[in-house]
Amino acid sequence: SDNVIEAKNIVVKFYIRRGLRRIGFAAVDNVSIAVPKGSIFGLIGESGSGKTTLGKVTLALIKPTKGEVLFQGRNIFDMDKKEFKKYRVNAQYIPQDPYASINPYKRVRDILTDIAKYHKLALNNKEALDMAIDIMNKVGLNPPERYLDKYPFQLSGGERQRVSIARALMLKPAYIVADEPVTMLDASLKASIVKTIKDMVREIGSSLLFITHEITLLQFFGPSTLVAVMYLGKLVEQATLKELLEEPLHPYTQALISAIPVPDPKARETRKLILSGTTPSPLNKPQGCPLSNRCPFAMDICRKEEPQLKQVSPTHFVACHLR
Ligand code: SF4
Repeated sequence: SDNVIEAKNIVVKFYIRRGLRRIGFAAVDNVSIAVPKGSIFGLIGESGSGKTTLGKVTLALIKPTKGEVLFQGRNIFDMDKKEFKKYRVNAQYIPQDPYASINPYKRVRDILTDIAKYHKLALNNKEALDMAIDIMNKVGLNPPERYLDKYPFQLSGGERQRVSIARALMLKPAYIVADEPVTMLDASLKASIVKTIKDMVREIGSSLLFITHEITLLQFFGPSTLVAVMYLGKLVEQATLKELLEEPLHPYTQALISAIPVPDPKARETRKLILSGTTPSPLNKPQGCPLSNRCPFAMDICRKEEPQLKQVSPTHFVACHLR
């Protein structure tokens, strides 16, 4: 297969308690994505769109209610222990909050060397430390000696995220999920951290699922990057970044793009699209199209029938009754 990860028809149901009632809703509702080998795949959506849940499903951190995930062609939930262990090394997570992946009571040195030793990628301390220093140099923790003996709380937010990135890269994984990796950081730092992730992924030849609510961050990955747009648990559009920016077909994507600040106010005038109201809770999804209660183009059919994904170019798919 040409894909490192294929998630097929994923459904993830969550349940909450309301008084005596248990209410279920699909956080991810029949979504399929494929991350091609050696490339970067963008997954965009606001909070509650299901993008993080889908990312975690591909890492086996959440078991889907339905659907399957193939890693290099093999179903991750069918693997035997040995194979699953290998997959665990090969599929790494860079979370939004670095404290979710790094131990606050360990020094940077141990955070990085322990993982290499644990997975037997380094035979001794010296080898593990050499690996750590090499990765630290590459992710911008220079000089490494300055950081090795520090604890995470002694670092800045940006440095801490670089440690989290270094930790994920120590194992040279085939697949990385970066989940809003710069959301908690200052605007001035975002570009440099996203570039670090991009350069490292290229260098070790991994594939990256980059999850974000900021479409502008995807521009660092180039116009041919594949991007999937999620809204209320559904995949509503998928295309290359260039196609999405130049010819967004789903009204939700159009609204996302028209919210990007542009230097020329006239250019903006022509493409401005504003949705009414705010995103409903996933517990109160409208019937039919998930956008039907906010979309300025909604028709009767939109409130009755859910639009299916349609292919409009070799790389462009959209789920909207207008197309
Ligand atoms: Fe709007 Fe209808 Fe398209 Fe949904 S299917 S985005 S409601 S036009």
